[in-house]
Formats: sequence, C-alpha cells, structure tokens
Amino acid sequence: MNAQINVLYVSTSAADAQVLKTLLAGDETGASVRLIPARTAQAFFDALYSEDNYQVAVVDDKQPWSDWQSVIAALSKGRPDALQVLLVEADRPERQVAALAEGLAVVYPRCSAGLVALARLLSKLAARDQGFSLRQESGTVADGAEEESEEERAKLVYAVSHDLQDPLQLARRYAEILNDDFEQELGDSGSNVLGHLQFNLGRTQEMLDELLDYSRLQNTEVDREPIDLNELLDEVKGLYRLTLEEIGGRITCQQPLPTLAVDRRHFHRLFQNLIGNAIKFRGDRPLQITVRSQRVRDEWRIGVKDNGIGIAEQDTKRIFGMFERAGASEDQPGTGMGLAICKRIVQNHGGNIWVRSTPGDGSVFIFSVPLNDDSVEVRAE
Ligand code: ADP
Repeated sequence: MNAQINVLYVSTSAADAQVLKTLLAGDETGASVRLIPARTAQAFFDALYSEDNYQVAVVDDKQPWSDWQSVIAALSKGRPDALQVLLVEADRPERQVAALAEGLAVVYPRCSAGLVALARLLSKLAARDQGFSLRQESGTVADGAEEESEEERAKLVYAVSHDLQDPLQLARRYAEILNDDFEQELGDSGSNVLGHLQFNLGRTQEMLDELLDYSRLQNTEVDREPIDLNELLDEVKGLYRLTLEEIGGRITCQQPLPTLAVDRRHFHRLFQNLIGNAIKFRGDRPLQITVRSQRVRDEWRIGVKDNGIGIAEQDTKRIFGMFERAGASEDQPGTGMGLAICKRIVQNHGGNIWVRSTPGDGSVFIFSVPLNDDSVEVRAE
C-alpha cells in the first residue's frame, strides 16, 4: 500500500510550489505526497495549530513576514516530529553552511536543482514503506560478459530516460509559468522565442517518453494469450478511420490473419506503428495498405505493404535503430523510435522484422512469429 505524507510548504513563491507539484506528479513510484502551501503568516499559524499531521515542513528562508529562524523555532515547538527542510538562496553556500551549523539536517538551494532534490527526498519518504525501488530491477543475473554489457546498456538507457524526466518537466513547467503569468513583460518577440522553446521542449519530452517505453520493453515479460490478429487489425484501423477517410486511404487484408499467442498490448503497438508509418510516409497516389500473412516452415510471417514514398536501399537496416529517420523532414511528427520499438517487440516474441522497398513505389514491412513454442495457436492457414 502506498504511504501518504503531508508536507507543509512555507514559501511565498507560488511558482516553486507549482513546479514541485509537477515534479511529484511525474514520480513513478506512485507514492503520494500532499503539499499544503502556507504563503502568509496567517496561513502558517493556521496550519501549525490545525489538526493535520505533517511529516515534513519545508521553509523558504526568505519570508516577508518573519526570519526563517523564528519560523523553524515555531515549527520545532508546534510540530516537533516534522522533518525540517530549509530552502536557501542558490549560489550562497555560506547560507547553507550557516543553516547546517544551526542544526538543520536538510538544506537545499532555492533553484531547480534544489527542487528536484527536494522532490526526490519527498518521494523517497513516501515510498519508504512500499519496500521496493524501481531502480532495483529483478532481472535474471547474466552469465556471459556480452549479456552483462547488454544488461548494463539497458540499465543505462532506462536511467538516462528516467532521470532526465525531472529536469525536463521542470523546464516545461517554468516555460508554462512564463507563458501564463509573464505574457505582458515578454512582448511579441519574447513570446515568439518562448513558443519555439516550448515546441522543442515538447519534442524532447516525446523523445524521452519513447526512449523510456523502449527501455521498458527490454526487460519485460511477454504476456502471451491467443490473439485474433484480424480483430487487432480492426482495432488499429478504427484508430486511423478518420485520417483514412480524410486522405481517401484503404487498408485491406488479402486473407484472414491467424490467431497467435502474443502479447496483445505490444502487438497492438506494433500494428499501430507500422500502419501509422504507412499513412505518414504516403505518396501522391491514393494510399493502399495491404496486410498479408503466410506460414513459412515453422513460423508465421505478416507483411504490411504500402504504396508510399519507399525507402532508399542504404537506409533499410538503419531505420530500425534508435532515433533513426530516413526520408522524414524535421517538422514531420515522429522521433525515429517507432521501428526500434517494433523490432524490440518482435524480438521479444522470438521473431524478426525487416523491410523490402523500392523508392517511389512503396515498402513492405515483414515480421515473423516463430511457431516453435507450444503456446502458439494457429486458426487460419
Ligand atoms: P518516425 O516515424 O518517428 O520517423 P520510425 O522509427 O517509425 O520513426 O521510422 C524510421 C524512419 O523509417 C522514418 O523516419 C522513415 O524515414 C522511414 N519509414 C518508416 N516507415 C516507412 C514507410 N512505410 N514508408 C517510407 N518510409 C518509412
């Protein structure tokens, strides 16, 4: 069960409180932290003498209504069990040292890095009773050096994509605050620059999310169940129905697809990525997507064929790598992670994925699902 902690946040800065809330909301442990802001002396004393239970009190050292020592003294008396955290002016380490010398255990600078550290501390406190950390993955211990380095790589990708979320969310939140509260001061050209900044931060967020998705697929168990691929394809068609109507595109299936024991969620993503790409990289002709399946020896092969722009020979392998794009222009949506994710999904099922393409004519993406596993069911030939 998740623990909940109450945090009294004594600060006049509404922006810092908002940023802290954003950081806490993005935390993956699911731990819950309730932030109770006290911006005025009245609010502080109301909270101090309220019935609420506070496990932590965060105090900004710059209060217009009192010096921080008096606030801390009042807290020590009224809330002796609450952990006290002081936020001091950034770039003034002597303040930090002075506060530590006065017996405060936790002192952070009042800046983005300090707020990130504070959010981490609060999440850790709230997650304390949950008894596990997302960082401690329970993957099997690899024997060979190669497997070990693969595992190391996977951990690195996870750690990078996970740890960059905090500073990025912080940057996005600050940009939002600028947008919402400082429109007048920014003027037209300032707002224009801010627009570009927000666009790029959004793109970075998209890339990071995809990287995190990819990294989660690296150590995941495949949750196999018999899936009728015709139904799955219909679901994906439904997602793109409006777009297809708008562009006059068609998706057809040459014969019924098989039912295979695969991970429903992952195969949905696989079909969605492949069909989404066929739509995105369509040519001038009306789009025609054809899905085919064929049993080849001990595996099923599924092909998604389009009549789009095609892919140059030299790019046909590279595009399955992380963040690799070929014909896509910069302002076309996408991050270059879609096919890397498809490859990971197919490989997790023991199969392979590749593409055959003629530039200007179209492409066919083919993936295989081996039948050497007893759990694979077949209903259509
Ligand atoms: P994204 O779609 O985000 O660019 P993907 O990993 O899904 O990333 O695809 C990588 C690249 O492969 C694309 O940028 C595009 O150049 C090329 N590509 C993928 N699918 C197709 C397709 N059906 N037709 C033509 N090119 C494609």
